Amino acid sequence: MPKLLLATGNPGKIREFKQLFGDLPDLEILTADDVGGLPEVIEDGDTFEHNACKKAREIAAAKGMRVLSDDSGLEVDALGGRPGVRSARYAGVHCDDEDNNALLVKELREVPETERTARYRVVLALAEPEGPLQQQPHTEDGVCEGHIELTPRGDNGFGYDPYFRPEGHDCRMAELSPEEKNRISHRAVAARKMRDYLASR
Ligand code: IMP
Repeated sequence: MPKLLLATGNPGKIREFKQLFGDLPDLEILTADDVGGLPEVIEDGDTFEHNACKKAREIAAAKGMRVLSDDSGLEVDALGGRPGVRSARYAGVHCDDEDNNALLVKELREVPETERTARYRVVLALAEPEGPLQQQPHTEDGVCEGHIELTPRGDNGFGYDPYFRPEGHDCRMAELSPEEKNRISHRAVAARKMRDYLASR
């Protein structure tokens, strides 16, 4: 059966990808644990696309298998698009979600609710160990618009989800069930496009 290795160690993302791709027939989804770990790839690009493609190409070449990577983050308009590609390490290299959320709230404390518009953005990249998809991975992107609230709610999801209110919803992303998040999230939008691409090959 064709295999697809997920190039992420983030348990929140792995859960979501397995749900988003799990029903594709004839596709075995592998994670780092199944292949003895992943090589470290330095995410030093200025764009989600650059980082996603770099990760997918390097890991596909190192592991000799087809790889799906993603690079994602939160863009806050009042912060000029920050934290953006630095979302995972917004408060510092060794910081966690709690530290990142604390900094986000601190930076937005004086910003009126109507100006706290934001979006999650993701680029997915599919690469193979050699051939055209090693030279240039296939990419798909996804966006989920919303607002940043200053108090947390909900226990689901990960990252900025307790503070992110998706457009058209009266609750935080972290209050949605995994199934509901996987209907509206940036990753779901991009994953649906990537599923179509995978199914068409
Ligand atoms: P990456 O691993 O470089 O793609 O970093 C992604 C970071 O963006 C995560 O560590 C989170 O801080 C944030 N992020 C991306 N997607 C989500 C999401 O669906 N919910 C909450 N935070 C997210």
